[in-house]
Amino acid sequence: MLSYRHSYHAGNFADVLKHSVLIHILEHLKKKQKPFCYVDTHAGAGSYSLTSEQAEKTQEYQQGIAKLWQESNLPPALTAYVNVVKAFNVQNELTRYPGSPMIARHLMRQQDRLFLYELHNSEIEILRIAVNKDKRVQIAHEDGFTRSLSIMPPQQRRGLVLIDPSYEIKTDYKQVVETLDNLYKRFATGTYTLWYPVVERQRIDELEQSIAASSLQNVQLFELAQLPDKQALGMTASGMIVVNPPWTLKGEMQLSLSCLAEKLGIEHQGSYRIKQLKDE
Ligand code: SAM
Repeated sequence: MLSYRHSYHAGNFADVLKHSVLIHILEHLKKKQKPFCYVDTHAGAGSYSLTSEQAEKTQEYQQGIAKLWQESNLPPALTAYVNVVKAFNVQNELTRYPGSPMIARHLMRQQDRLFLYELHNSEIEILRIAVNKDKRVQIAHEDGFTRSLSIMPPQQRRGLVLIDPSYEIKTDYKQVVETLDNLYKRFATGTYTLWYPVVERQRIDELEQSIAASSLQNVQLFELAQLPDKQALGMTASGMIVVNPPWTLKGEMQLSLSCLAEKLGIEHQGSYRIKQLKDE
């Protein structure tokens, strides 16, 4: 049974990294008129109240989006990110946070298509309400690992896939690489993003090794830490692995991550890592 609910974590430091990368890639895809597709294998509820009981309980967004909300001098990718979140809030007051499906829906054009997969019985209902009726968006209460494969290669032949499991099930670490590899074999020119948490560093070392051993080419890694490894229970850092990134991403992330490590790090212990995992 799935117990993870993103409403406890929406807008935290991990979402800041994940969603700023996502927005940069979507904006890059929009530079051409040709349609693209966006596939979210683990969509979540799509929209989150920051005044809900869950968000109030953890207050994680206070160490994430809230720290950037009033900043005026952010690097371009972070400015774009904050502006997207602002579009979901009124009068400059931070009370709502958009999940990845709503961010993509906000940025998509008439010609683009979204495919959203979510397994949780209640999250899928909230997601359907958040998206409302939109012919450009397909939502399925199905396993995103297998369903995403069935639509590859996409009709549009351009697109982005986000793989963002909660890693509740430890086999997720293995399954994400298998899924990436299979998706890539069917659609080698697509852009793929994989989110990962750093709870046990060993697991991430193994994740990097299996990506290095896979058929994937042109892979970059971006990681943001609030604290050094093992300085706290739970997640101290998180990262995004990007296959076929836009050429602009690395430079933008250099600026964004150095700013985020300073602003979101706890007691000046923030840090970041950028790595070319596989060459082009
Ligand atoms: N991508 C979302 C965002 O950035 O706003 C957050 C997603 S949350 C980290 C992970 C979600 O995946 C949870 O809502 C969980 O119910 C769902 N989930 C878990 N296993 C799944 C699977 N095999 N297929 C689809 N959804 C799954």
